Amino acid sequence: MTTLVFLDPAFEDGRPADAAEPQLLATDLGVTRGDGVFESLLAVGGRPRKLPAHLARLAGSAAALQIEAPPNAAWERAIATALARQVQADGDGPAVVRLFLTRGPEGTGTPTAWVSAAPVPAATLAQREHGVKVLLLDRGYDSLDAPQQPWLLLGAKTLSYAVNMAAIRHAKANGADDVIFTSSDGRVLEGATSTVLLAMEQDGVRTLLTPELESGILAGTTQAAVFDAAGKAGWALGYGPLEPSHLLEADAVWLASSIRLLAPVTHIDGEPIRTSQRLTSELSALVEDIL
Ligand code: PLP
Repeated sequence: MTTLVFLDPAFEDGRPADAAEPQLLATDLGVTRGDGVFESLLAVGGRPRKLPAHLARLAGSAAALQIEAPPNAAWERAIATALARQVQADGDGPAVVRLFLTRGPEGTGTPTAWVSAAPVPAATLAQREHGVKVLLLDRGYDSLDAPQQPWLLLGAKTLSYAVNMAAIRHAKANGADDVIFTSSDGRVLEGATSTVLLAMEQDGVRTLLTPELESGILAGTTQAAVFDAAGKAGWALGYGPLEPSHLLEADAVWLASSIRLLAPVTHIDGEPIRTSQRLTSELSALVEDIL
């Protein structure tokens, strides 16, 4: 069951709403233009994980779109309300919590904000165990353009995910599960809804690598938390630039995101790549501890 709670000044802890009933105006610019931002985070035992990191990224995305975001305290109370209702309905298994903020109904200048909570789909949990086959797809922009083109909103988590969803459909139609986007100049960027991580082991040194943020990718909260924990556990850390050859030569590659956590990449463009159960178990244990 999906639980909805709208942020509404008239309701201090948020206004619960029925997900089976219409709740938005058809003129909401989030619906008509994808003009808004969102976050997806994991809740375990009714408690949201990495909440400060998600609220900070939401505020950054909203600032990039010049939408006024509600204060963190209002989000926190609405999330608590949504999770309390979700636990009551579905028990305290892992849940996906989504935060939405749109520019609001056309002509009003009043943003719309709500929280949803629902059980994590079984298919997402299965990716942690079975891994994912990916296709490399050209995202169609140069990796060096991002800082010069702020209007592209690269790095903001906007509601305009139609391209990301189309990429996943393309992958599924071609025998894969997901994608890794590359830039026109041949750099590895990110997954459709995930950050790319890779590991190299040489002479007893384990190195964890991820593409550089300057290439216009979303700053992953999972990647940041994994890097923090891995650094403390003795891993060397590095940030791109990475090319597809790095993925093919790595000892292991993962897609990392808040709900799936770490999904080992097993195939790229139909070819099997190296995986490591040992490295996956080690990093997954670190990820499990992230609060
Ligand atoms: N990159 C993109 C494009 C995403 O949509 C996501 C998450 O949905 C991520 C990376 C991973 O972000 P996080 O680890 O904060 O969930």
